[in-house]
Amino acid sequence: MTSAENNNLEKAAEIWRASKTAVALTGAGVSVASGIPDFRSSGGLWDEFEPMEYATLNTFIDEPEKVWKMFLAVSSQVRQASPNPAHIALAELEKAGKLRAVITQNIDGLHQVAGSKTVIEMHGCGRTLACPECGYHEPTPTTGLPPQPIPCPRVATVPGSHQLFHYLKPDVILFGEDLKREVMQEIIHWQNSLDLLLIIGTSAEVHPAAGLPTAVHALGAKIIEINTEPTRITKTRTDCFLQGKAEEVLPALQKLVLA
Ligand code: NAD
Repeated sequence: MTSAENNNLEKAAEIWRASKTAVALTGAGVSVASGIPDFRSSGGLWDEFEPMEYATLNTFIDEPEKVWKMFLAVSSQVRQASPNPAHIALAELEKAGKLRAVITQNIDGLHQVAGSKTVIEMHGCGRTLACPECGYHEPTPTTGLPPQPIPCPRVATVPGSHQLFHYLKPDVILFGEDLKREVMQEIIHWQNSLDLLLIIGTSAEVHPAAGLPTAVHALGAKIIEINTEPTRITKTRTDCFLQGKAEEVLPALQKLVLA
């Protein structure tokens, strides 16, 4: 590590130690070391599945089998993944009282597996299958998704009750779908109470995550960003940018914050 990198790490630890309410916003970069590539990079999901073709609610209505193919690909990656040192450091920092919540855009559930307790899953999670029309839901089979979409059981029992959707969908947000109201309320609660936002492994391009840095910056909170590359907020919103892999930077920062 260069001395400039060391100084930055010290500066970040100082900001974190002075904070009373630190919250992390995490994205796909946090789970890359767990074997789940971020969707945009080469080799990522969008290489194979063009998002506006496969990852929209309208496609799930018109061609559920097509979207199911993408769900199968994601679910097989997630089933093989386990938490990496970035997830573990965040869980330990929460346990030590230095982190109040994780707001994640990830749908892999790895923060909870690592031991994080207060996790707001902005885009839902693949642990549950739900019918977008009637709200019926059930746990995703522990053996993984079957090769074909699963019909909503209420379609057969309540004839005429389903106009648009006939199949269960992993409870994750597709393009064209609104975030759940209770999730938005939790995000707004933390947005208004935090004094430090750690933005980790996210390009912060997708709304509403993209709006959070601007909102908390306007409210006077500090921002520490950890990413392998600068992002669109690095110059304008970030107080301290730590360039590097989350799975390496976070454990090093954890040591200093808890020292
Ligand atoms: P993104 O793909 O837009 O950005 C990922 C960011 O992580 C990039 O800025 C990249 O530079 C950075 N990065 C890559 N490897 C890193 C590492 N080891 N350490 C630190 N940073 C690293 O992802 P996003 O901003 O999360 O938004 C994409 C959307 O795709 C989200 O809505 C999310 O739901 C979904 N997604 C989820 C998963 C998952 O659940 N694990 C994986 C891919 C995408």
